[in-house]
Amino acid sequence: MPEPVKVLTQRWDRPDAHTLSGYLDSGGYRALRAALEEAPERLREQVKASGLRGRGGAGFPAGVKWGFVPQDSGKPIYLVVNADEGEPGTFKDRELMERDPHQLLEGIAISSYALNSHRAFIFIRGEYLWPGIRLEEAIAEAYGQGYLGKDILGSGFDCDVTLHYAAGAYICGEETALLEALEGRRGQPRLRPPFPAVAGLYACPTVVNNVETIMNVPHLVERGVDWYRSMGTEKSPGPKVYCVSGEVARPGNYEWPMGTTCRQIVEESCGGMLPDRALKFWAPGGSSTPLLTAEHYDIGMDFDAIAEAGSLLGTGAMMMFSDRTSVVEATLNWMRFYEHESCGKCTPCREGTFWLSQVLERILDGRGRTQDLDVLETACEQIFGRAFCALGDGATSPVFSSLKYFRDEYEHLIEHGRLPDGVEDRDSHAGPVTDNAQHGRPSMRLGAT
Ligand code: SF4
Repeated sequence: MPEPVKVLTQRWDRPDAHTLSGYLDSGGYRALRAALEEAPERLREQVKASGLRGRGGAGFPAGVKWGFVPQDSGKPIYLVVNADEGEPGTFKDRELMERDPHQLLEGIAISSYALNSHRAFIFIRGEYLWPGIRLEEAIAEAYGQGYLGKDILGSGFDCDVTLHYAAGAYICGEETALLEALEGRRGQPRLRPPFPAVAGLYACPTVVNNVETIMNVPHLVERGVDWYRSMGTEKSPGPKVYCVSGEVARPGNYEWPMGTTCRQIVEESCGGMLPDRALKFWAPGGSSTPLLTAEHYDIGMDFDAIAEAGSLLGTGAMMMFSDRTSVVEATLNWMRFYEHESCGKCTPCREGTFWLSQVLERILDGRGRTQDLDVLETACEQIFGRAFCALGDGATSPVFSSLKYFRDEYEHLIEHGRLPDGVEDRDSHAGPVTDNAQHGRPSMRLGAT
């Protein structure tokens, strides 16, 4: 049985971990010193050999992504850190940045050196004021002591870091929309190819990596590939910070080796489900990952095991729900989010998320029709694989997975006009007229006449 690990969270017990003195006192910036002695190609090979996979949702191997960057284009190379953590249920990067901002800066300096990049950006969501302040202070300290800026630690390597506060749009977590926003335009996804590694920020080669991904780099550089691969599974190595929320006794961020089962994380770190509540459904990696059920409690939390079970690891944000919660209500709640956050660029997502919300709302209001379940499925089919970016596909996840596992709850609502006994009506579906008014749309409550 795996044990909890303390790699990225190793300094969380130190009250001074966010300061340069606290960071240095606990071994900070040692990896940077060692890395600057190495050739950049060797570091890129090390990251590739470690098997580190992106922690922002897609799980793409970081070293492979770095390998796509042309080193001879004659253009500047940019590193962009995606700190626009907007996936519902995800809060790991926030705590990582708040508690240990220098760990991110050290990762940026090493990664930039490995990529031959001299300019990095941290694109942080605007609501993350406190982590942003911590980062601003850390950046100032790092510049002051020669860990960033010109001639880092006397190596001759220069690296500047800019912290950019985003305006708070979920879509800007998508890397090409992020780059559009960083360039000062409306945050909407770009057509690919070209991919950012070839033509990203300002049409120059750009690597976009998640906060947690970059924070892994100092550790694997300092302690080696074998140590790194000793944690996790063959195809999903290393440590992972899982953020657990919902109806558990102790929600929070917990670090375990990749592949630890959901049961072990929830039972040992979170103290299990709340008293007198049994697990009914859960999302393994945020709301855009298909729901799983109590039957999947013993599945390993790694990219491949979760994919085999029919879902996605995503960000590792485990949202746990009990038998008292309506899966239909939760699905409507998420759908409202996607409807609100749809950037509007493509029709399947812009219109589809709106209509999915409307039909779900009608069912929950007790006005559902038998054919509404076919309507939901057809709408999902019209979005999935036809939308311009992954937001559209992700928006269908809670709908089709809740229909797959809990069709009886939908049918009960349609037949009886109310939730099954024992499921609490939290009335979260109330207020659609206000929501629509906020969107500048007329009230279009289906079947309300
Ligand atoms: Fe925008 Fe289309 Fe992506 Fe939805 S799927 S966020 S409308 S580009």
